[in-house]
Amino acid sequence: MEKTLVLIKPDGLQKSLTGNILTKLSEAKLEIVGAKVVRVSRDLAEKHYQHLKDKPFFEELLKYFQGKLHGPHFERVLALVYQGEDAINRVRKIAGATNPEEADPTTIRGAYGRITTKGVFENVIHASSDPKNAQREIDLWFKPEEIVICPEDK
Ligand code: UDP
Ligand code: MG
Repeated sequence: MEKTLVLIKPDGLQKSLTGNILTKLSEAKLEIVGAKVVRVSRDLAEKHYQHLKDKPFFEELLKYFQGKLHGPHFERVLALVYQGEDAINRVRKIAGATNPEEADPTTIRGAYGRITTKGVFENVIHASSDPKNAQREIDLWFKPEEIVICPEDK
């Protein structure tokens, strides 16, 4: 049994894709064990994307992730935790490749993502990449009491 963090990024919210994304993710047959709207502070954004801090696009990525390119109503993300067998890979598969131009068109990123003129991949959704990152990210975004686990699974 695995848990994975999913974020619907500001572009996903602005494009009104929340319903489409949740419907597509339901194909993975996983359980939602956490969900909330979060205004992303610079500190949280930096911690979330710490592995990219030396990249030339880092500052622009932080702006995008904080919703600063999408107007005041979209300075937020929808954060979800999914749980189930092989949850991390199942969600990554439905999300698609990082670069929306290379992503399979039937994936969320392939269908809805774009590359901005500044070169940032606005790819609509975050999905944890591996078990270590999933654990780190869930601890970063959620308090233990915000995760609802079925007693039989504990
Ligand atoms: N990103 C980008 N340009 C790149 C690589 C990444 O704009 O060349 C952005 C993109 O939004 C991506 C995020 O940075 O989702 C995190 O990158 P990562 O390599 O962790 O890809 P992911 O795990 O999201 O597929
Ligand atoms: Mg990643």
